[in-house]
Amino acid sequence: MEYTEKDEKQIGKLGEALFESCRKICKQESDMELIRKAFYFAKDAHKGVRRKSGEPYILHPVSVALIVVNEIGLGVKSVVAALMHDVVEDTDYTVSDIEHFFGEKIARMVDGLTKMSEVFLSDVGDETSKQAENFKKMLLTLSDDVRVIIIKIADRLHNMRTLGSMPAHKQMKITSETIYLFAPLAHRLGLYSIKSELEDLSLKYRFPDDYKYIRDKIAATESTRRQYIDRFNAPIIEALKANNIDFEISGRVKSVYSIWRKMQRKGIGFDEIYDIFAIRIVFKPSPLIPEKSQCWHIYSLVTDIYKPKPDRIRDWVNIPKANGYEALHCTVMGPDGEWAEVQIRSQRMEEIAERGFAAHWKYKEEMLSRGADGELDRWIKQVREALNSPTENAVEFLDNFKLSLYASEIVVFTPKGDQRTLPQGATALDFAYDIHSKIGNSAVGAKINHRIVSIFTPIGSGDQIEIITSNNVTPKVEWLEHVVTAKAKSSIKNFLKKDKLNNIERGMILFEEKMREFGIQPSARVFRKLLPAYESTNKDEFYSKLGAGIINLDGVEKVLRQNAASKMIKYWSLQFPNPFKLLGGGGQEKKKMPEGPLLLKDDDIKFSIAECCSPIPGDQVVGFKDDAGHITVHKRSCKEAVRLAAQHGENIVPAQWSSFKAVSYLTHIELRGIDRMGIMLDMAKLISEEMNINIRELKLQSHDGIFEGVLSLYVKSIDDLKTIMARLGKIRGIEKVRRIEAYNE
Ligand code: MN
Repeated sequence: MEYTEKDEKQIGKLGEALFESCRKICKQESDMELIRKAFYFAKDAHKGVRRKSGEPYILHPVSVALIVVNEIGLGVKSVVAALMHDVVEDTDYTVSDIEHFFGEKIARMVDGLTKMSEVFLSDVGDETSKQAENFKKMLLTLSDDVRVIIIKIADRLHNMRTLGSMPAHKQMKITSETIYLFAPLAHRLGLYSIKSELEDLSLKYRFPDDYKYIRDKIAATESTRRQYIDRFNAPIIEALKANNIDFEISGRVKSVYSIWRKMQRKGIGFDEIYDIFAIRIVFKPSPLIPEKSQCWHIYSLVTDIYKPKPDRIRDWVNIPKANGYEALHCTVMGPDGEWAEVQIRSQRMEEIAERGFAAHWKYKEEMLSRGADGELDRWIKQVREALNSPTENAVEFLDNFKLSLYASEIVVFTPKGDQRTLPQGATALDFAYDIHSKIGNSAVGAKINHRIVSIFTPIGSGDQIEIITSNNVTPKVEWLEHVVTAKAKSSIKNFLKKDKLNNIERGMILFEEKMREFGIQPSARVFRKLLPAYESTNKDEFYSKLGAGIINLDGVEKVLRQNAASKMIKYWSLQFPNPFKLLGGGGQEKKKMPEGPLLLKDDDIKFSIAECCSPIPGDQVVGFKDDAGHITVHKRSCKEAVRLAAQHGENIVPAQWSSFKAVSYLTHIELRGIDRMGIMLDMAKLISEEMNINIRELKLQSHDGIFEGVLSLYVKSIDDLKTIMARLGKIRGIEKVRRIEAYNE
């Protein structure tokens, strides 16, 4: 639709306002020429197009350019880029056209802005991860040129100001993005007033009733508050004047959004919020005295009148916030016993507070294009590092990123006295990661102000910290609970992930080997039993623990047996007659073991074999004589023998096997292995047919293909036992053969 005369008039008027505003940033006539050229170029490019509200489209880029110059204070190139920001997106012009007309730098900025538009225009549905992926892409432009992001914030601000003409579902999407990303970004870049406005506008569209309620309340309490502030300010004004300070004092109500947040967070009503306003003193510094001294001078004048709250002094003059903010804040007890916050700033500080980083380099655009320096640069570097970390998924990235946007800071020092800024609540470990991820990954301890402490110790402003490292240390999952910075979190997670991947692989190999040995198919049923037993919630966790050596498979047969959910138990118990009974010899029927193969120097002494350890000929033995003169023979390694020897050393009787005779002794062998058809037969055949040994009892239990059992048999000596154990071990399916000293049915 062709523009009407009225449209043209409106466009011309806004254009003039822009040129007027740009006068202050144009150092030469060619600067203004460039801006005019951009204005007419954009106007022509968007010719005939209207916004949802019905107004000519060109009013939008001109408004954005106005925000860029008036509210943020960027320079000529940024204004030009703002004017052109939708040209490539919405018209037939290309980036190379822009380059042709406006040069490479502006073309690159427009390109960045266009790419960001694509991110936001793409219909992502409500898939958070997809949306997060897009945000991540958008933030990539941060590393190229901060101005692109700042212009994008201005673009967003104008869209928020004109959001009323958008359909409801669009409003929802736009306000969510604003509160999720743009307001925090504005905060991080020090654009306080823009941040506040973005938040207030978001609230207005998201919770219109809440917004209106608070707005009305603020208006209704306005006059009483005004009176109170006047009463509060009067003595301060007097004192400042008496000291020849050039100043402005104002009482500002906090933003609707911040009041709303406080009501939400604390679950309180509007009337219960006491710090609804703050007093701001902005002074024009006298040239010869440092601003810092003047801040403290004003502080001392104010606190001569009102008592300060000792723990509420915030000195961002000595050490500015990471986003560049400088001011001296304190909370004092005002009239009627009410606490009030007082903010003390110079005019320069005020400008930085209002315009953020842009104010620092108001006339030095070159610096911004190179990514600024100092704190902002450091932060951008962090963002870049995080963006480049390949394993971090987009949602995690954004969580961490948001963390870095809002943290309030403390300042600490390296052993060499270098200053590092970290968020409130940071630990020595955060500090270690802040220095370098390698230092963090190998941190074992820290020296805080020369005292050795744990790496998990919280650090405070002014601490001097040295990190102690060791090559034997690697990050643990628990570390995540002891760090607050995005960098530490992502470094630890990355390490664990890499480590976990290796561990999973290792664990899988170990497990498969073991299962192959047992001939077991690792079925879902097997895992249903294994996972809870090894406190794992899924296979990966199980493999990872196994690979990391946190768990091992030594008792896996037992686990598979004991945790049997379905009772598939095979049970054998074979009883064999006592060979001595079979032999039928009278003396052998006596409970006491036969004399003979053993023992002692004196052949007449009666003895018996201790049941606790069942020694057999060949074992090293020792005898213990009781009061009746009866001797019990133990293995020397038997725990009971050791106890007796310690307590009744006088009863020890040296003993040794005299000769091996054809008498057999009872012994027990524990067996474990894989149950298979015919394995019992193989064992029985080996023991009774091939080796001609008497079995007393064989008990086997089998679960899920794994069996465990005890074989009780009579052997003549330890050599016999060793032979039979070796032969048993060779039977296919038998995994473990172990002599046990005692076996109680
Ligand atoms: Mn736009």
